[in-house]
Amino acid sequence: MASADSEMVEEIAKRVLDGGRVNAAEALELYHHAPTQLLGHLADTIRARKHPERIVTYIIDRNVNYTNICVARCNFCAFYRTVGSSDGYVLGFEEIFRKIDETIAVGGNQLLLQGGHNPDLPIQWYEDLFRAVKSRYPEFKLHALSPPEVLHISRLNQIPTRTVIDRLVAAGLDSIPGGGAEILVDRVRKLLNCYTKATSDEWLDIMAQAHEAGLRTTATMMYGTVETDEERIEHMMRLRDVQDRTGGFTAFITWSYQPEHTEHGGYEATGIDYLRTLALSRIVLDNFDNMQASWVTQGGKVGQLSLAFGANDMGSVMIEENVVRAAGASYCMDEVEIVENVEDAGFTAKRRNMHYEVLGDPIYRERDVPRMLALATARADGDASVPDELKNYPARSRAAKALRLTQ
Ligand code: SF4
Repeated sequence: MASADSEMVEEIAKRVLDGGRVNAAEALELYHHAPTQLLGHLADTIRARKHPERIVTYIIDRNVNYTNICVARCNFCAFYRTVGSSDGYVLGFEEIFRKIDETIAVGGNQLLLQGGHNPDLPIQWYEDLFRAVKSRYPEFKLHALSPPEVLHISRLNQIPTRTVIDRLVAAGLDSIPGGGAEILVDRVRKLLNCYTKATSDEWLDIMAQAHEAGLRTTATMMYGTVETDEERIEHMMRLRDVQDRTGGFTAFITWSYQPEHTEHGGYEATGIDYLRTLALSRIVLDNFDNMQASWVTQGGKVGQLSLAFGANDMGSVMIEENVVRAAGASYCMDEVEIVENVEDAGFTAKRRNMHYEVLGDPIYRERDVPRMLALATARADGDASVPDELKNYPARSRAAKALRLTQ
């Protein structure tokens, strides 16, 4: 590091340690020139300031993708199938109830429910599903539908996004996941073919509307595709601005792009880049309380190291995962392994809910819970069944109309 850079890094680092805020140019200076151990030290200092009790949390929930049929066709996505595809699916309500039963059996309290932009699911389908879940499982939480899905439902049903949020909240929506953010810079979104599913402003506006409606949400960043370092930092700055206004984000989660089986292709960012990006986000996002480790994309060992680079949360004992697995990553950790990783790093592990309220100690220490050695999938291979209740909803695509006629 040249001495001018090193002096500047030292000056910025001192301000961060004193509790000061960095601007975009300073964040870039740190990202480019601060040694990795210094970035980790700064991030860990902020983590310790916000969480002095050395508790690392995690949630037991299930990552359910209700449909893989999607008209958005983001070029970094290996999960979606086109309308009419033979391996496209929509889960039935009964299948989703079974998944909730299995989640409750291992101590879970929430579904993270996201899916493709399916043109054949009107808003009533979501409302009926949410109401049915809440009437069977009144205490169970629905962390569901990222901003691009809210926008898709709004366009499909010709109703404003705020009305979509209000109607879904009335049906049982508890919080909104921060998916679909990728990089909140429109140049990048156009290159990734995700600009039309939601522009940067649309994504941020929907989150602000959700916060106004009283919901808490998370925020994410998928890096390592075509963005520049400046754009990675611009993404963080835009989130920080919304958080200054609304205070509605509970947590930030970043992960590297997973290239396998995608149209975009390319390579995955390295582990050091992940740790530097995570640490930088902890420094820049000084108004976010919680940073999750993305062990599902980085593996358990880097996930554990994240706890020294600003993370205070291990995310989810997720039981099921389909999206990241479709792009080649297949890490799986059950509660026992997550807790071992947390404790071995010198922290106390606690279960939490989506609001980051501590629920208690590891459930497997309270009662017998089956070990989970592989993540479940949305459906068994070859299961092409069509849920019965779909015939209650009007289809828009020719393929779905034909299918529902035969039901
Ligand atoms: S990332 Fe989401 S919106 Fe984009 S193609 Fe995949 S399923 Fe569709």
